[in-house]
Amino acid sequence: MEMRKSARSDERYSTLGIGAEHLEDLNQKETDALFDEAMVVGVNLLDFYMPAPDVRDRVGHAIAGRRDQIKIQGHLGAMWQNEQYKRTRNLDEVKRSFEDLLTRLKTDYIDIGMIHYVDTEPDFQKVMDGGTWDYATELKKSGVIKRLGFSSHDPVIAKKMAELPEMEVCMFSINPAYDMENADITDIDRMIEGKDFDLETAQISPKRLDFYAYCDAHNIDITVMKAFGGGTLLDSSRSPFGQGMNIYQCMKYALDKPAVLSVILGFESVSELKEALRYDAVPDAEKDYSEILTLRDFSVTGRCMYCGHCQPCPVAIDVATVNKFLDLAEAHDSVPETVAGHYQALAHHASECIECGSCERNCPFGVKVRERMKRAQAIFGE
Ligand code: SF4
Ligand code: SF4
Repeated sequence: MEMRKSARSDERYSTLGIGAEHLEDLNQKETDALFDEAMVVGVNLLDFYMPAPDVRDRVGHAIAGRRDQIKIQGHLGAMWQNEQYKRTRNLDEVKRSFEDLLTRLKTDYIDIGMIHYVDTEPDFQKVMDGGTWDYATELKKSGVIKRLGFSSHDPVIAKKMAELPEMEVCMFSINPAYDMENADITDIDRMIEGKDFDLETAQISPKRLDFYAYCDAHNIDITVMKAFGGGTLLDSSRSPFGQGMNIYQCMKYALDKPAVLSVILGFESVSELKEALRYDAVPDAEKDYSEILTLRDFSVTGRCMYCGHCQPCPVAIDVATVNKFLDLAEAHDSVPETVAGHYQALAHHASECIECGSCERNCPFGVKVRERMKRAQAIFGE
């Protein structure tokens, strides 16, 4: 397992980290097996925003007795309410959820305390003025948090967070689609025809490039989320490039960015983890992502990444999952039986949507959820 040194210290991090997003689908035995497989080859980073108590308990069990072998990015501002994830800036809720994280992980410290998901100026102000920032810095002073960080999808707000003197780590969404979303794609054509085009300066959105450069220059370590664009980039029928990438191309793309320490991936099984762990062994040709730059239509705005940031929904619709089933259904001429069966098994369906718009306000990718709920109802009949 390739390790990278932090820009701030001699600490070394595995270039592949475990994300929490699929851990809720694994039982204790599967969770233990996943951590066994990862840790034995040197994976030493876990990003853990997941507030569900049973997932926290299972991970606590999986790392028991080897806490010192894994660095935890634990989030401040993700909580569990009414059986759902909720982002919060309420100080009491932030504290309760963080203390619960420590208890359930059976630890008294968190390696990187991440202020969770700050994407807008008003939210930045809430973090700074509403107590979250003071709480995080107190935890840092007392040693409960070893390093301070934050997660964001927005390069302008992320830079603002990174400029806070105490900041050391940023979890940021990086993949070629996001990087090019705002770029002048005619430049890409010109560069692709050259033999040694400069990806860093010619292809990336200037705001994102500016953010990466800032992190590089100021020793902010970046850990990467959304390297596969929520799976969209892996699927030719959904990729904004019109052609799917393989996981190694996506991983390499992210690891090639300035200041990047590690790519965080979620795994539904040990076999998925093993596939990602092959990264160091696969030939360079398999990781070469330059071919993707020859294609057109780069916008990902409006595409669901299944990230779950839109929760909570007042009628408890699992928006990410409904969106995923809708995408699967729409990718076929007729709805596959398995997809229909999975959709029917959901506790709440798109037909229950009251069109409150809360999900759309929370969505960082501009997904028109209400419109999609209507489409899902029409396709699935409920
Ligand atoms: S609707 Fe938006 S916030 Fe919700 S899962 Fe999709 S991309 Fe994420
Ligand atoms: S618009 Fe519909 S799906 Fe979105 S939060 Fe409101 S009720 Fe839930």
